[in-house]
Amino acid sequence: MYNLKKRVLVSGGAGFIGSHLCERLLKDGNEVICMDNFFTGDKSNIVHLLQNPYFELVRHDVTEPFLAEVDEIYNLACPASPVHYQYNPIKTIKTSVMGAINMLGLAKRVNARILQASTSEIYGDPHIHPQPESYWGNVNPIGIRSCYDEGKRCAETLFMDYHRQHHIAIKIVRIFNTYGPRMHPQDGRVVSNFIMQALQNKDITIYGEGSQTRSFQYVDDLVEGMIRMMAAEPSFIGPVNIGNPNEFTIFQLAEQVILQTGSKSQIKFLPLPQDDPQQRKPDIEVAKNCLDWNPKIQLEEGLSRTIDYFKTCL
Ligand code: NAD
Ligand code: UDP
Repeated sequence: MYNLKKRVLVSGGAGFIGSHLCERLLKDGNEVICMDNFFTGDKSNIVHLLQNPYFELVRHDVTEPFLAEVDEIYNLACPASPVHYQYNPIKTIKTSVMGAINMLGLAKRVNARILQASTSEIYGDPHIHPQPESYWGNVNPIGIRSCYDEGKRCAETLFMDYHRQHHIAIKIVRIFNTYGPRMHPQDGRVVSNFIMQALQNKDITIYGEGSQTRSFQYVDDLVEGMIRMMAAEPSFIGPVNIGNPNEFTIFQLAEQVILQTGSKSQIKFLPLPQDDPQQRKPDIEVAKNCLDWNPKIQLEEGLSRTIDYFKTCL
């Protein structure tokens, strides 16, 4: 009998976003191969899926070639938090660049559709606000964030060149700051840091004056956007911004976390890291028009769900 299930590979599937994506793909009736080297991901993120006969977990490093018969590939393998991607910057850029080459090579070999998890970081410290996909960005190529930013930019280039040269069916999504359950409690990102600090009544660490902005998206909204992008007509390859355009200063986020946790934490100001973008907000007109996608979960509700999760990590 003809098998209607799609066989889907998720690289970086044991990470924060990857685990939610694997869950959703299984729920939609697909077979999922989750490939991960467990650098920042963890088995605990997908342990609840291991009993599912349509779920397979493979320990593998995306910088090495990988062979599997699949119909679709989501390429998420890459550390995403500044603390983690700066830990071994050379490995970070290898992961983005060699990982993209290996995953694109596989897509070419088995004729799979492939989606790249790109990032708002490709806009760097943006001079245009909000950021539309047409903006080329303002990235420091030699700074401490460039292993991530330039790696992701090069991956986009590789995706476009494989598309132009080999006619691979590609999709590029530029993901803006995403948060939710299964973020690593110690990954150093602002949402996890602030919630963990607030739950323990420790000082909330604001880098700089807290006037820099970010626009925070709940993970379920992102997964919906990625699924819609993969399913969209082949001629729509992106890049497309997937993010929530509600913009907050980091100071406002600290206040909101303190309010929602009822914490006694005080705010402590620490030096701003080098090249920290001053502002970030997605222009999501393309996603609205081409994917009929709109983020549904706003910060208060998303934070409340995430706070409940982090309570279980204490
Ligand atoms: P994460 O660190 O939780 O997940 C990344 C996963 O990739 C982890 O499971 C990790 O072990 C795995 N990995 C890392 N290097 C690997 C390698 N060499 N081989 C195989 N697996 C490897 O981070 P996340 O937030 O879930 O991010 C997932 C993807 O989304 C990343 O590509 C990231 O760049 C992108 N993204 C995330 C955000 C965000 O706000 N979370 C924003 C923009 C883009
Ligand atoms: N940040 C902060 N305190 C923290 C962690 C981060 O003030 O404990 C700031 C950081 O300097 C940046 C913003 O919060 O301006 C978002 O940081 P994150 O690392 O979450 O994401 P990114 O900078 O990659 O958008």
